[in-house]
Amino acid sequence: MSKQGFTTRQVHADRILNKPEHGAVHASRTNSVLFEFDDAQGIIDVFQGKKAGHVYGRSSSSSVAALQNMLNDLEGGAGALCYATGMAAISSTLLSLLKAGDHIIVSQYLFGNTRSFMNTLADLGIHISFVDVTSLEAVREVYQPNTRMVYTETVANPVTQVADLQAIGRYCNERNVLLVVDNTMTPPPLFYGKDVGASLTVTSLTKYIAGHGNVLGGAVVDTGLYDWTGYPNIAPAYQVAEPHQWGLTQMKKKGLRDMGATLSADAAHAISVGMETLALRMQRACFNAMKLATFLDNHPAVARVYYPGLSDHPQHFVARELLQEGYGAILSLDLQGDADPVAFLNALNLVITATHLGDTRTLALPVAPTIFYENGKAGREEMGITESMIRVSVGIEDIDDLVGDFEAALSEVSQR
Ligand SMILES: *Cc1c(COP(=O)(O)O)cnc(C)c1O
Repeated sequence: MSKQGFTTRQVHADRILNKPEHGAVHASRTNSVLFEFDDAQGIIDVFQGKKAGHVYGRSSSSSVAALQNMLNDLEGGAGALCYATGMAAISSTLLSLLKAGDHIIVSQYLFGNTRSFMNTLADLGIHISFVDVTSLEAVREVYQPNTRMVYTETVANPVTQVADLQAIGRYCNERNVLLVVDNTMTPPPLFYGKDVGASLTVTSLTKYIAGHGNVLGGAVVDTGLYDWTGYPNIAPAYQVAEPHQWGLTQMKKKGLRDMGATLSADAAHAISVGMETLALRMQRACFNAMKLATFLDNHPAVARVYYPGLSDHPQHFVARELLQEGYGAILSLDLQGDADPVAFLNALNLVITATHLGDTRTLALPVAPTIFYENGKAGREEMGITESMIRVSVGIEDIDDLVGDFEAALSEVSQR
């Protein structure tokens, strides 16, 4: 990583890393699916991995490679791959690295669709232990000789449990177990997977990285810390390059070329533009979230607020160690007594009822009957989700407008 400040680096990254033609400051967008070779030996060398290059748009293209360079630079990694969505990045990564009979240790507090995808992996013969990742002890207890991977998010949504990533990272490194961290909730500059020894980070670019609710995308970054020569599932055909590239080679061939959830050039461009203001948006959203959480925590109509920045949050001190510049911008709340969450959401004027997060706009939704409906009551209980919980993704509006909107809605529901 460079010595320049984060945003200085971000606003110049495309120009400096990708060297676009004619003095352009953005990498050019090509919709070309195929790439021509003047000398036929060239296409042979690229197919055989002897030379870098693009042959077919499903596997790679100059436009997507430009974004991959920027994401890799952002995290200080050894390489990155982009996918059409965050779920495509997650599913392709896990499917390309795991085999039937493997055991993986997975956070019991997961994004709903990732949790649901874990059921698909189980159907394919991968053994999964779901554990409380706020404690290393829980991870240690289920470790087996065939444990290949620990998979967790940084700060879980909607309850905001914080994984004990320093301890889990050390444990995984001692045993050369892959540590895969979903860093969607706390992208740089808040958190770097590399700092805790993560092997791979996966991210939904759709959320904070792109930031404006207008494009889908996902990525995996190899931090370069994992020794792939100790990983039993790399096919001999992919053990050809430098060992630190083995994982990426297999993820690219299996996860991208064979599974095919490729990011489009237009999406790559939109994401790279969003990334320019990543730190500015994160700082503002975190600032707003802290203010709003404090306001709600002190309001008599609110029973409980879930936000790692509050000093009575169960992992407040873990979060303080892990996260730079803020505690993220997701918070959840339970209203007091039998106040109706639906009526409360309807009473908000500025805040949008929507299932998305990491947007410039503040969004809210009732959790149990929507995004965690499929999990059932017992499943929700295991994740700490109450039946009346409301999740808020705090945006970058002016804080007085946000507090005002919540204040008015709270007084409306508590007067009923
Ligand atoms: C949204 C999200 C995903 C999935 O990303 P998409 O781009 O919507 O497919 C994965 N993990 C987390 C933590 C998310 O919030």
